[in-house]
Amino acid sequence: MSVQRIYRPALTPGTTKIDLEQEDFHYLKHVLRLKAGDPLILFDGIGNEYSAVINDFGDSRVRLEIREERRVDDPAPPVILAQAVPKESKMDFIIQKATELGVRTIIPFTSSRTVPRLTEEKAAARVKRWRKIAAEASKQCGGTIVPRVSEIRTFEAMMDEGARASLPLFFWEEEQGRGIRDVFSAPFRPDLSEISIVVGPEGGFSRDEATAARNRGFTAVHLGRRILRVETAALVILSIIQYEVGSIGAMPEGNDVP
Ligand code: SAH
Repeated sequence: MSVQRIYRPALTPGTTKIDLEQEDFHYLKHVLRLKAGDPLILFDGIGNEYSAVINDFGDSRVRLEIREERRVDDPAPPVILAQAVPKESKMDFIIQKATELGVRTIIPFTSSRTVPRLTEEKAAARVKRWRKIAAEASKQCGGTIVPRVSEIRTFEAMMDEGARASLPLFFWEEEQGRGIRDVFSAPFRPDLSEISIVVGPEGGFSRDEATAARNRGFTAVHLGRRILRVETAALVILSIIQYEVGSIGAMPEGNDVP
């Protein structure tokens, strides 16, 4: 059985003992039925991992002893997914899959054709749920980085953040010229130090939004003739980019497979 991973964002390097309570305590004692002496891995979501051992269980807490800590950097360039908020629970699915695919930041945003008009309270509740989904997905796939999920941004605010990447890509279903393949097969390799990708809602992007994105330095690209659903597009784009930059399909240096 692989060693159980527990997400502890507030863990600081140098900690030697830690008590887990509430849902972590319940999960380890009553769900996994772990015992004193069993190993655990704690990760803080920003690239630090801690090997720990269960010391003992109290009535409502479990005491761990931390034996070793290590940095587990993700050498691949950070990828930012800016996703127009789709209807219903599609965003839950996109957040989970984008995390498994190693995305570093997720920026939910509204645009001219996004349907849910959320109150501030509902928006905050959704972002809270998306952050929990990202942490869970990172724990499940053995990721060490939990993607940052930002507050829901306006289209303009999203562009401010996304345009700062070295390779800002705007996926437009009406683009006829450059395809994603052209970006990576150009004679000169683009600067891949930070990649941002912008994906629209079910209704797509307006021509004005595509023009505004180009004016902010985004490259509008297509994925080919077929128009993908919003939840398919985000995953296909991330798979292509993560493969190109080696975050999928290659082991990071130092992880030589025996
Ligand atoms: N309403 C559109 C589909 C939008 S799909 C229509 O039916 O024509 C949602 C988003 O996925 C789009 O805004 C775009 O960002 C991305 N997408 C889907 N298919 C694409 C393609 N072939 N090329 C570029 N982007 C695409």
